[in-house]
Amino acid sequence: MTNSKTIPATLIPGDGIGPEIMDSVVEILDAVGAPFAWERHIAGMAGVDAVNDPLPKDTIESIRKTGLALKGPLTTPVGGGFKSINVTMRQEFELYANLRPTKTIIPGGRYENINLVIVRENLEGYYAAMENTIPANGDPKGIALSGGYVSRKECERIVRFAFEYAVKNDRKKVTLVHKANIIKQMCGMFLEAGRKVAAEYKGKIECDERIVDACSMQLVTNPWQFDVIVTTNLFGDILSDQAAGLVGGLGMAPGANIGEKTAIFEAVHGSAPDIAGKGLANPLALLLAAVMMLRHVNRDDLADRIDTAITKLITGGEVRTRDLGGTASTQDLTAALKQAI
Ligand code: NAD
Repeated sequence: MTNSKTIPATLIPGDGIGPEIMDSVVEILDAVGAPFAWERHIAGMAGVDAVNDPLPKDTIESIRKTGLALKGPLTTPVGGGFKSINVTMRQEFELYANLRPTKTIIPGGRYENINLVIVRENLEGYYAAMENTIPANGDPKGIALSGGYVSRKECERIVRFAFEYAVKNDRKKVTLVHKANIIKQMCGMFLEAGRKVAAEYKGKIECDERIVDACSMQLVTNPWQFDVIVTTNLFGDILSDQAAGLVGGLGMAPGANIGEKTAIFEAVHGSAPDIAGKGLANPLALLLAAVMMLRHVNRDDLADRIDTAITKLITGGEVRTRDLGGTASTQDLTAALKQAI
């Protein structure tokens, strides 16, 4: 085992439960000898309180330099004209792919043995919408308009990302999810680009297609048929939360935002102000994000050790946090995980 910390990475503890779960994750990463040399920086409310900026320049510069970050949940400041931090980061670093794996870890639920990945396009679609209102029916804002866009380049890039992910991770099938029957231009272009890229992988990776509403139902009735799903921004946002709900909810859901030069790993959940500072937070979603980060830097050996420890502990069932029906504190779970590694 090597203890040399040779890979510079930015660490943002975050707000609310962020610092508690980040401490837990760093303890576990240290216990396996993870190679990250952390540069600690602030963002979110911590940034607003310190320098009146939810995304301070130093934080951005550090991420630009390291190209790698582990980020705790950030509280979105209400009012004050601050732009969404997550959207800003995606645009700043061109994080075009949002990778959201969904895997059953907790046994005894309705959905055993689920293991699927959703790849969501992160930059375009309705999240890049030009919105406006116009007068109608005697109401000065009687009609609301929202027009998104996709580009052929980005559609091809995200589908290729999904196929490359499938090749590297020994996956068998990629499903293109769309609504091209109704949204003929935007979803039509995604589907056309998807089919073109799929043809390049013919014989290596299987490809099929679903209309998003049917896909949503099938995720509930038969999620086992899916392997890798790739879709546009809004559909990916919704389907990935739905998928997380199949396997234990947000306390277990990690995510990665990936670009050509930069990758930011995080838990899907927010800063949970209702339980912050009480030692009740489940650190597993952020830990699973750190596991993805280890795989990203080709340290599958360390990632496997943490994955195995999590499965062993959660399957055993004795040490679970309150959101998973147990009584363990964040610290109890951290200590047990360190023992299990
Ligand atoms: P939330 O995810 O913070 O909390 C929703 C519920 O889930 C709460 O009851 C909370 O206690 C529980 N919960 C969440 N994570 C948990 C964990 N690890 N362990 C145990 N229980 C957990 O969502 P919210 O309350 O809507 O948002 C709070 C703040 O977080 C808002 O400011 C929001 O904008 C922000 N947010 C940030 C991110 C991010 O940084 N990626 C994501 C979502 C929300």
